Amino acid sequence: MLLFLSDLHLSPERPTLLSRFRALLEEQAGRVEALYILGDLFDAWIGDDDPAPFAAEVKGVLKRFGKATPLFFQRGNRDFLVGDRFAAETGARLLEDEALVEHQGLRLLLMHGDQLCTDDIEYQQVRAQLRSPGFRRQALALSIPERRALAAEYRRRSGESLSLKPDDITDVNADAVRRALEIHQADLLIHGHTHRPAIHELETGDRPARRVVLPDWRENDPRVGATLDAGRVEWVATAAREPKP
Ligand code: MN
Repeated sequence: MLLFLSDLHLSPERPTLLSRFRALLEEQAGRVEALYILGDLFDAWIGDDDPAPFAAEVKGVLKRFGKATPLFFQRGNRDFLVGDRFAAETGARLLEDEALVEHQGLRLLLMHGDQLCTDDIEYQQVRAQLRSPGFRRQALALSIPERRALAAEYRRRSGESLSLKPDDITDVNADAVRRALEIHQADLLIHGHTHRPAIHELETGDRPARRVVLPDWRENDPRVGATLDAGRVEWVATAAREPKP
């Protein structure tokens, strides 16, 4: 059984999410074959050298889990600055932006999902800039407080622009989904990002396929991810927990 999570948007401001994450990983360690985190684990990640206690705490949770269970991490649009040091410190293996995994005879295509939102041309332009090696180098050369300010500014702007766009613009584009499935000859596309959890049945060419959209983590929604076993996809839920004192 594989476990998939995304869009937890962990941040020091929301300790309840971190305690739910800790509880889930303690519960699932050694019970699932592997954990795949498909991006936006963090609400913002300003670099692997962030000395904040919050960053160290999340790394510790991942490291403890990774001792019992293989752990894979794909970058999202909020944590694209995750790098090799994070991987070394947590034991997570970093995945490419499009990762193909074979499991029990099924071909799984794993993506964060933002690259499928091709109708949002403005977003794709910003994404291309932020994900360029040049931006990465420049951003990581800034001081930690400067990076923190930049991340806050980016979050504010992205929230504003999202709220102004119609819903269908910020969802995935059906052709982009079909193309991705066809290129990889995948049976299942699993992604997050859109915060529209669902399991869609699709036809691509002559083969059926499914698109699983992972849930984002909300204080009032118990769904936190999905498992895949013997071709069956099931939601995973946790009880909301109070933060530890
Ligand atoms: Mn995202």
